[in-house]
Amino acid sequence: MRVLGINQVDLKNKRVLIRADLNVPIKDGVVTSDARIKASLATIQLAHDMGAAVIVMSHLGRPVEGEFESSASLAPVATCLSELLEIEVALVPTIERCSEVSLGQIALLENVRFLSGEKANDDNLARTLASQCDVFVMDAFGTAHRAHASTHGIAKFAPVACAGLLLEAELSALGQALSAPEHPMVAIVGGAKVSTKLQVLDSLSSQADQIIVGGGIANTFIAAAGYGVGRSLYELDLLDAARAIAAKVNIPIPTDVMVGQAFDASEPATVKAVDSVADDEMILDIGPVTARAWAAQLQTAKTVLWNGPVGVFEFDQFGEGTRVLAEAIAASDAFSIAGGGDTLAAIDKYDVRAGISYISTGGGAFLEFVEGKTLPAVAMLASRAGE
Ligand code: ADP
Ligand code: MG
Repeated sequence: MRVLGINQVDLKNKRVLIRADLNVPIKDGVVTSDARIKASLATIQLAHDMGAAVIVMSHLGRPVEGEFESSASLAPVATCLSELLEIEVALVPTIERCSEVSLGQIALLENVRFLSGEKANDDNLARTLASQCDVFVMDAFGTAHRAHASTHGIAKFAPVACAGLLLEAELSALGQALSAPEHPMVAIVGGAKVSTKLQVLDSLSSQADQIIVGGGIANTFIAAAGYGVGRSLYELDLLDAARAIAAKVNIPIPTDVMVGQAFDASEPATVKAVDSVADDEMILDIGPVTARAWAAQLQTAKTVLWNGPVGVFEFDQFGEGTRVLAEAIAASDAFSIAGGGDTLAAIDKYDVRAGISYISTGGGAFLEFVEGKTLPAVAMLASRAGE
């Protein structure tokens, strides 16, 4: 799907409205993780360098639409942007006042979720937003799976609509991993529940040569293979679904697992063979023999796609499986791509960012892309590009 890229558009003397994903955690009025802001800087800086009047917009949190709520204000984000870009970024309270932003300036429009019609993708709101710019730049990959007025509708009405650098990078990296992956391709799908990742597993089962499952997801596959899983998190109603997926692609079952008797940060971890889990135990991680074996297999992969930790990595004693696999991905020569909120937290915990070829900024959008869905905001850009 072809979209117009920001580098193909002349932004000099243009009014440029950039939809970024600056939905960051904020505590006591201060941004506590600026990763998403940093990922958005390149596009903002490029538009500024090209001589545009730059207006950035984003959502933050889930305020009631049509009302201002100070805890959902983008004011702390404007402060953070100013510091990172080393230029004053004013917070613009209303759409109308965007007209006050002049060439050479960078401003941030207040939370688009304060605007009535944002989530309903209202045409009137989309038109009003579009009327503020000569060029609309969609760069919010993390929100590209939602057809909202600021991500989708606006692209219908803006004189020019193109993709920003982050969105282009995401589409290209995900495209490389999924449309024409170099084989062997290994997908790691961990996390809590099969139900949230059934479509991801299904779609990967026809692309990957092997799927490594972990976490609560692995527990469902372990149970489907006929082993007892004690009090582990697993989904009884999805055993048949798990068997159907396992019939399509190679899904190894761990030979050893780490168990505990309580879901607790201070619960000791015990190694058990997969066929010896007691009724009162919970599987909370893969075991060391399994982790080493899978880490070795990863070294022969040419493409690795990772979503979801393979254990309760928030508790150090149940994080070893995730650590070993994360380090194996980082050490491998494969083209590796990772995405997902908790996956990113694990990447940072085990400090393997530098070894992974591409880390997606999207959680839901990343999963929908892997599921093979067309992201609505991207489809709209493509239709504007004549696709
Ligand atoms: P992501 O956000 O990367 O897509 P998920 O949200 O699907 O990942 O899953 C992450 C969560 O799964 C973590 O909070 C982790 O503690 C939990 N988890 C992993 N393994 C298990 C397990 N064996 N039992 C219960 N929860 C688990
Ligand atoms: Mg998560």
